[in-house]
Amino acid sequence: MIIVMSIGATEQETANVRDQLRQYNLTPHDNYGTQRVVIAVLGDVAPVRDLLVSKLSIMPGVESVTPITRPYKLTSRESHPEDTVIELLGTKVGNGNLTIMAGPCSIEGREMMLETARAVAKAGATILRGGAFKPRTSPYAFQGLGIEGLLLLAEASKETGLPTITEVMEPSQVEVVAKHSDILQVGTRNMQNYSLLTAVGKAGKPVMLKRGYGATIEEWLMAAEYIVSSGNPHVILCERGIRTFETYTRNTLDLTAVPLLHHLTHLPVVVDPSHATGKRWLVKPMALAAVAAGADGIMVEVHPNPDQARSDGEQSLTFDQFADMTSALVQIHEMVRTLNKDPFAMTGPIKAGSAKH
Ligand code: PEP
Ligand code: MN
Repeated sequence: MIIVMSIGATEQETANVRDQLRQYNLTPHDNYGTQRVVIAVLGDVAPVRDLLVSKLSIMPGVESVTPITRPYKLTSRESHPEDTVIELLGTKVGNGNLTIMAGPCSIEGREMMLETARAVAKAGATILRGGAFKPRTSPYAFQGLGIEGLLLLAEASKETGLPTITEVMEPSQVEVVAKHSDILQVGTRNMQNYSLLTAVGKAGKPVMLKRGYGATIEEWLMAAEYIVSSGNPHVILCERGIRTFETYTRNTLDLTAVPLLHHLTHLPVVVDPSHATGKRWLVKPMALAAVAAGADGIMVEVHPNPDQARSDGEQSLTFDQFADMTSALVQIHEMVRTLNKDPFAMTGPIKAGSAKH
């Protein structure tokens, strides 16, 4: 349920509404817009819904009371119609700004990190990526440089001026990763690691939540809800491919997620064509398709010498390939914006679980 306060509502009137909710063991969650307060109601509303609607609707300062039908309350567009925009060191993520996150899969050393950072910054990246704590399928594979890697990423950020993103794999790493990086990445394998989601929700830094490779869009949004309900409204969703029966690609890129998410949620949506395809030559076409479909940006892996990379070389772009892709992306982005001011306005209702085979 959301309660929209009228433009001139006083602080006392808003406080009275919050008190009323608490009397029913519900938790008020304020969204401050530029002109008015919107209160999202968290908790088990169902048993008292009708009673509450009639009580709240006549309280002074209340403009409207509307049930939220989605199970993800805070992340749903119903509760927060405007797009969430996340500002970092002068760059904005969300609401149609083009975000380009790029860098190596793993930070392998100082020279390669700095060289890659300079190259991607020059070619138009807006956020620098680099893995320090690496979730590897094999326990024998390179696991990342850990804290040393975080320090190299921070050094590269300082030199280029780009904000950074890196993965955090467990709650005990949250503090140190938040200290050295601007965005915390939760990887596909951890999308439903609820203690990690709660911990990054309290970290005070934006979080990028990658889609679990076997997760539905609704499960993904419920995972984002853990982060937002723990106190962190700055969440970016990243579609990185899901597992299907197809084996020519590493995963199957679900681009329908982009317009669906824009309809269902106010959070920015980014696409990772590197992990989605697993193949360097498929990254550019899928990146272009993602932006054409309305993605707020992309994340790609770039390496000075991909064939020598310690992880994910097959899907990493060379510097030249990254520059080529970026200039094409900027053109597609401009075209999508000018072709239709509101290309993603949806008309029909959508609900989960309506698949027919
Ligand atoms: C990554 O971005 O380095 C990564 C491991 O991605 P994912 O969690 O999508 O596999
Ligand atoms: Mn990788």
